Amino acid sequence: MIRAAGIDLGGTKSEVQLFDQDWALVDRRRDATPASYDALVAMLTEQVRWVQDRAGEAVPVGIGAAGLVDAEGNAFTANLPAMGRPLPADIARAAGHRVTYVNDCRALALSEAVFGAGRGHATVMSLIMGTGVGGGVAHRGALWPGPAGTGGEFGHMPVSGPGLLAHGLALRECGCGRRGCVESYVSGPGLARTAREVAGRDMTPEEVAAARATDPGAGRSWAAWLDLAADMALALVQAVDPDVIVLGGGLSRVDGLVGELEQALAQAQIPGFGVPPIVLAEGGDASGARGAALAASQEAQT
Ligand SMILES: [Zn+2]
Repeated sequence: MIRAAGIDLGGTKSEVQLFDQDWALVDRRRDATPASYDALVAMLTEQVRWVQDRAGEAVPVGIGAAGLVDAEGNAFTANLPAMGRPLPADIARAAGHRVTYVNDCRALALSEAVFGAGRGHATVMSLIMGTGVGGGVAHRGALWPGPAGTGGEFGHMPVSGPGLLAHGLALRECGCGRRGCVESYVSGPGLARTAREVAGRDMTPEEVAAARATDPGAGRSWAAWLDLAADMALALVQAVDPDVIVLGGGLSRVDGLVGELEQALAQAQIPGFGVPPIVLAEGGDASGARGAALAASQEAQT
């Protein structure tokens, strides 16, 4: 018996996953993400209909994707052809079935809180550092709601001023239209740019991380990254004080990163006060779809 479905919607592919009563994955289907808005709506409508056919009844469907949906229901997303368009409403109209749109970093927070590395903790924060930077907060097994919908947009918090000064880094323009967003430094592309500025050469984030103990330029670039990431984590701890921080994204897979970040965060904290443990996400690629499915299921119950 199918209880819910989640769609992991990315810039190149869209995978829908069906979950049974125990939240086990029982079937999946993958389609290419189209380049036009109308084709995107048609593809997602087809996936929603496939879910209802396979389930034999109407079950909750959540879409986990990068970006946001504003208060009017319009999508704000850079990697899908849906900027400014009422994507959830258009799918619902075409499919005759409501869909729940969840930011993918928030979906990971919920999935890890209930099924993964955050199990047993009351307040679970996800922190995803890869192409971009984002996250989310789940409290007692549900996403922390908010009127603006931007709770979890950690990448667009201001970067640490002391961190920039300590490492001689200038303010950078962000795609969101502001300057000095932490994503411009703490994302993978941000680290590569820091390496260009600090070490004077092109290195991928993985190359910087791999050479951080042996190459002085990579070491200085990494030190700047670590300080800025720790200051971001500290700001989040001072604001939310989560029980655990669950890391995801490409940079989270750097060997030794968890220990280094935890130590840097502890050193940045007010002396005498603790910091939450930092752990790696367990759910892997399944986290987004399962979290979106769970969010849709919870929304259907309210
Ligand atoms: Zn920004």
